[in-house]
Amino acid sequence: MKELIDKLEKQHILSKEEYTTLIKNFTPEISEYLFEKARNVRHKYYGHDVYMRGLIEFTNYCKNDCLYCGIRHSNKNADRYRLTKEQILDCCKNGYELGFRTFVLQGGEDDYFTDEIIVDIVKSIKQSYPDCAVTLSIGEKSYESYLAYFNAGADRYLLRHETADNEHYHKLHPHNLSPENRKRCLFDLKKIGYQVGCGFMVGSPYQTAENLADDMLFIKKLQPDMVGIGPFIAQHDTPFHDKENGTLELTLFMLGLLRLTVPNALIPSTTALGTIAPNGRELGILAGANVVMPNLSPVSVRKKYLLYDNKICTGDEAAECRFCMQNRMKSIGYNVVISRGDAKQLGVRN
Ligand code: SAH
Repeated sequence: MKELIDKLEKQHILSKEEYTTLIKNFTPEISEYLFEKARNVRHKYYGHDVYMRGLIEFTNYCKNDCLYCGIRHSNKNADRYRLTKEQILDCCKNGYELGFRTFVLQGGEDDYFTDEIIVDIVKSIKQSYPDCAVTLSIGEKSYESYLAYFNAGADRYLLRHETADNEHYHKLHPHNLSPENRKRCLFDLKKIGYQVGCGFMVGSPYQTAENLADDMLFIKKLQPDMVGIGPFIAQHDTPFHDKENGTLELTLFMLGLLRLTVPNALIPSTTALGTIAPNGRELGILAGANVVMPNLSPVSVRKKYLLYDNKICTGDEAAECRFCMQNRMKSIGYNVVISRGDAKQLGVRN
């Protein structure tokens, strides 16, 4: 097992069988061995800096029906909301004052927000805050739509591939959604010039160790700038309400493998990780992650963007989340920095 981790450290890739062996058989001792190597690589590129992204959850309307997600179209209990352009710009203003230099606009797939509206919002943010990066996370669109947002100034796009295995993909999504289209989107985004983020849930229903190994190989092929992963957490109003949650241990182990597989990637320690364990986000950083995404959404809508149950920080003001995060990072010897936090190029180390 240790030899496999040494090999991954040197070559940044393993075979499907080798990844599978590690994922099936890891122990606390092997995890520690992996995390130490992952931290070393992370320190080479990013030192002890932690990049911050301000997350703005601007709509929870969604036309899709992903079986795991609390804001799926069929969930009649979801209390739907949309932020106005003015509210979004207010979040940015507040965020800028708190030191955020990246704004992530995330939402369900909401046709109310036409390309024209998204373009206008992106342009307005970039005009007011030219020193900030804008990240979009609004789902599957056409090449032309992605191009329009990019030309308006969007810098980055987050679209988790969810699972690289086609059969598994169909177990998590209704049949009008296809893994081919999701992957097409990711390659289109790269071609256009976005910094692209993919990712997956750890412990999603029906997921196997082989699926996770395929996720690593897909990431190797896509070569994304960012990879977001977090545990699957059941949401009470979804078809997966009685499924097991992903575990802290496996999520951390996958974070470590990711760091060694894509050494210079931007890897967030996610809110979902902080939800399954009180110190989950700190442990994520210690397993190799280098990004945190505190919430900038207005407190009035926080409790409505419920992708999963028991989500943390739904009652806190942006400033509280920001300083709480700073303290958490400080407590483990890391510094939240005020910068756009772009990816370092491979080979160009701190
Ligand atoms: N509509 C956008 C944003 C989706 S929400 C899109 O399609 O990309 C962001 C991510 O939250 C999803 O990609 C999914 O991986 C994660 N997510 C959704 N439901 C979840 C759950 N129950 N537990 C954990 N993560 C979940």
